Amino acid sequence: MSDLQFFGHIIDNEEVESLDGGRFDVWNPWTREVWAQAAEGSAADADRAVTSARKAFDEGPWPRLGRTERAAAIHRLADLMQERTAEIARLDSTNMGKPFEQAKHDVARSVWNFRFFADHQRDHCGEVYPMDSGHHCYSEFGPAGVVAAISPWNFPLMMASWKIAPAIAWGNTCIIKPSEDTPASVTYLGRLAVEAGFPPGVLNVLNGHGAPAGSSITGDDRVDRVTFTGSSQTGKLVMASAATHLAPVSLELGGKGANLVFADADLDNAVYWAVEAIFRNAGQICLAGSRLFVQDEIYDEFMARFVAAAEALTIGDPFDPATRFSALASRRHFEKVASYVAAAQELGGRIHTGGVAQDGSWVVRPTIIDGLALDAAPYCEEIFGPVCVVNRFGTEDEVVHLANDTRYGLNAMLFTENLSRAHRVAARLKAGTVWVNCFFIRDLRTPFGGVGDSGVGREGGNFSREFFTEPKAVVMQIDRKG
Ligand code: NAD
Repeated sequence: MSDLQFFGHIIDNEEVESLDGGRFDVWNPWTREVWAQAAEGSAADADRAVTSARKAFDEGPWPRLGRTERAAAIHRLADLMQERTAEIARLDSTNMGKPFEQAKHDVARSVWNFRFFADHQRDHCGEVYPMDSGHHCYSEFGPAGVVAAISPWNFPLMMASWKIAPAIAWGNTCIIKPSEDTPASVTYLGRLAVEAGFPPGVLNVLNGHGAPAGSSITGDDRVDRVTFTGSSQTGKLVMASAATHLAPVSLELGGKGANLVFADADLDNAVYWAVEAIFRNAGQICLAGSRLFVQDEIYDEFMARFVAAAEALTIGDPFDPATRFSALASRRHFEKVASYVAAAQELGGRIHTGGVAQDGSWVVRPTIIDGLALDAAPYCEEIFGPVCVVNRFGTEDEVVHLANDTRYGLNAMLFTENLSRAHRVAARLKAGTVWVNCFFIRDLRTPFGGVGDSGVGREGGNFSREFFTEPKAVVMQIDRKG
């Protein structure tokens, strides 16, 4: 009898095996051992999950609950998550190698996602449109229906909660398919939803691979909304699949974030955030500051400080409290990142620090490269690892052009003490979010998303409301004519 943990599907409030009994192995990237198994969802399992969510939406209590009651149920789930923070964080650290302290922070952020959208829905106001003609009109935001949500492995719980929370808060029912690399914490969340007393079918967890599990739910015409976070390449497949039944999509995709450091920046602050932006979570962040532009006058000093700060990061076991940086999330991903480092070397890039660990682990050390041509693959493509490509610039115009010269447009950062320049450059950058003198700071009311290959649509606050509801205009006569 295997002592591996098992993560099943959660369908209709029951944790179940796949109909054909299929399972796949779940790895610990630090120990490079299999520590669990998960149910391998087939098209038939996907059908079961969609049937459950559809029935819960069409016949169940959830969409019909008062907004206060629904918010209270979601807060109950958030309370349970908060109580079990260490347990959930342990799952994410074991499953994707994230330092335990960071995983605990991710749980706190996920709890906040649930609390925020519960309250946002409970406290929202509709709009009234005064009309000239003896009528008045108001808007209503009713739930859209069944939501298919697909999430990646880099923030396993947090990315999933960012989708599930607004979906269920607005009265929808949901099927979440976590990444096949990280099924653990989302399945655990599904168990907590049962414990919190959610009605069956409100939150279904479908484990398995992109195809057939993910593609079966996105292509099911009983699904009303598709929300996806993952690579740009997969995003195109998801959009095409949803288009077969005209389901609106929200796509949060890849990035190649530009980080602009002007000569008048506070260098301590800029170095601190440059390190966070590319080495936190071992660079496996869509928002990573993976292209760094430093103005000529401070280039050498900045690079010396940046390299020293990167080398000071303690690499190790995610459960060692001293660890700031650990292995990449899977062998496949390690090989991909390592191939970009090799390509950078072949293409004449100068590696100031880092490179692939040669000890058999799945570690790529914090890596800083300059001297690459503007069309070199490691410079242009999303590496999604701890690899920063650095370039120098002379003028504001030049750096804006360099920063915008990409197919992506998720985010950018700029560091300057000149207020006018900060506003001027922020306005010119092609990105969904621009951080000035900081990074990763979020207010959940604000729009989040990207332009170009970084995504379609925005989520957050009212932007999530627009996506997860069917806004309706009700026009009412006040004065009868004649
Ligand atoms: P991925 O595209 O390989 O997989 C994402 C999810 O899609 C997984 O659950 C996968 O099983 C599923 N999937 C794969 N093929 C599918 C298909 N044909 N139909 C339906 N689902 C399918 O991405 P990943 O490697 O897990 O994540 C890394 C990527 O995610 C990076 O590009 C990163 O930038 C991006 N990302 C973006 C954001 C954002 O908010 N913009 C946040 C985190 C990660």
